[in-house]
Amino acid sequence: MADAVTYTARWIVPVSSEPLENGTITVYKSKIAAVYDRGRLKPDVDLGNVAIIPGLVNCHTHLDLSGARGKIPPTDPDHFTDWLKGVIAYRRSRTPEQTQADIRDGLAECLRYGTTLVGDIAADGASWEALAEAPLRAVVFHELIGLKPDRADVSRREAESWMNGGESQLRRRALSPHAPYSVRKDLIVEAGRLSRVGKRPTAIHLGESRDEIELLHRRRGPFREFLESMAVWCADGMADDFSSIMKIVDFRQPKLFIHMNHVAPSARIPRNSTCVFCPRTHAAFGHPRHPFREFQARGVRVAFGTDSLASNPDLDLLAEARFVHAIRPEVPRDELLRMATLTGAEALGWANETGSLEVGKSADFVALPLPNRDAVDVHELIFEDANRERKTMFRGEWR
Ligand SMILES: [Zn+2]
Repeated sequence: MADAVTYTARWIVPVSSEPLENGTITVYKSKIAAVYDRGRLKPDVDLGNVAIIPGLVNCHTHLDLSGARGKIPPTDPDHFTDWLKGVIAYRRSRTPEQTQADIRDGLAECLRYGTTLVGDIAADGASWEALAEAPLRAVVFHELIGLKPDRADVSRREAESWMNGGESQLRRRALSPHAPYSVRKDLIVEAGRLSRVGKRPTAIHLGESRDEIELLHRRRGPFREFLESMAVWCADGMADDFSSIMKIVDFRQPKLFIHMNHVAPSARIPRNSTCVFCPRTHAAFGHPRHPFREFQARGVRVAFGTDSLASNPDLDLLAEARFVHAIRPEVPRDELLRMATLTGAEALGWANETGSLEVGKSADFVALPLPNRDAVDVHELIFEDANRERKTMFRGEWR
């Protein structure tokens, strides 16, 4: 094959199959042409003491908050609405130019850490242009807000025109009704319906804090005070519980339920749903132990997100998996790596083209430096918090 390049490295980790020590991966044009054991093909390039892993998939971030790092410290779980107020005040303080600069900074950070597919939630779809020029795949979720009927009508029109806009090979449009406390039920239904056409994922923040439950069940508590203070309170039309939301958004398209910190593992969760777990943000707010293992045991997909820099120290998706390994060492590392790559691609509806090192998929991978020591299992080395200098290939080209 003319122009094909065969790389070798200390480890090739396809995620969809067993790791290959000194294996090879052959790239032809933008795709993976072969993945072999050591000795089958003569490599053209030796990448040395690295693991070749699939490009990282960040299922949840808000790039427009990338200027907020360290400025809105996460609160304890009982004062979550104070943090939300801080985020709103921060957003209002930024000019459109500043917001675009923030988006580009966040994007640069995602790229530096080896992200090759991102799901970004953006007010007004503001990250579309920046992402359109960037070397990665993206699903841009236009955020929808609206508890009161008139505000919801505006959002509905925005949603329709957003979903009717053009897409490109690497950029897809989707919708995110923000959360059950900020979006009326009929707008959530509408978002699901509009997403059904192109089978685009729908994302909604769900069960992030315990106070949401009190609001939905009893229409009271800190969220009510928060919404009243913003003059957007409207009890009529709000959902009653998490299960009803998961049901009404279900048009068989992929569904991303962001956080699920307080959703009972026994809840009825529709097919093709993903729990997007943001581990370091979850820990920063001091939420109780996350039920992701219980969700997985029930067959619910669980993928990772970084959330935004308003609650997270960086946008390194692999650092999320490493963090979980540190606090929940019983979870097998290979499962965590899958959650950081292939599972995320499945969640965002892109697993046919990326997320693992398989013949025919896009050549999207990261050369991750490994420590200079022996280990029987390469995952042990991958999960050591070592060098963050990563080289990333996207569609057959080094970025
Ligand atoms: Zn979020």
